[in-house]
Amino acid sequence: MSTTKKRIIIVTGIPGVGKTTVLNKAADIARQDYTVEIVNYGSVMFETAVSSGFVENRDQMRLLPPEKQRKIQKTAAETITKKAEQGKLLIVDTHMLIKTPEGYLAGLPEWVVTTLEPDVIVLVEAEPESIFSRRSKDESRLRDKDSALEISTHQNLCRAAAITCSTLTGATVKIVTNKEGMVDKTAEELAVVLKGVN
Ligand code: ATP
Ligand code: MG
Repeated sequence: MSTTKKRIIIVTGIPGVGKTTVLNKAADIARQDYTVEIVNYGSVMFETAVSSGFVENRDQMRLLPPEKQRKIQKTAAETITKKAEQGKLLIVDTHMLIKTPEGYLAGLPEWVVTTLEPDVIVLVEAEPESIFSRRSKDESRLRDKDSALEISTHQNLCRAAAITCSTLTGATVKIVTNKEGMVDKTAEELAVVLKGVN
């Protein structure tokens, strides 16, 4: 499909599930045929938060007061929507629910998801035990030390939030399972979803 219509796919999944890893590979597959751009919502928020003097590193973001996080979120939604209006398929790498000390904060509240107007919302999921072990091994990030049960609850709540986003925007919700050691297979599955929207 060749059109100037805004096309956005939102790829979500709880921290450490492997979104960024899988998404980079899926985008490499897609780029053999057409242009895609990946935008990391957290990075756009981080740039805004640093320039406002709120944080110095990325993992401090989820510890900010929810009110500040919401303000930064809104600015990021507007920045990202402008990018999508440039015509290429935009993939937004983000979180459905952020664990803050005050409780879960919606990554895609109504005023973000209706600004972005995604075509598809992808939930990348994995076995809670796998996520637990990926978080423990990944030394590049300061990650939450949730139990497998807490990870499972977080994933279940993300499903509910995804369906709420679908209800608000008409986007479809696609669940992709990122099995242990199967990044390439998961990326291929995700590439099919991207192709369907392009
Ligand atoms: P965040 O939301 O915090 O950015 P993420 O979902 O983007 O996290 P990644 O940073 O992509 O997660 O991956 C977390 C870790 O899990 C990395 O060390 C990555 O190599 C590993 N990983 C990703 N997918 C798999 C897989 N299928 N099997 C084993 N390890 C994996
Ligand atoms: Mg990531």
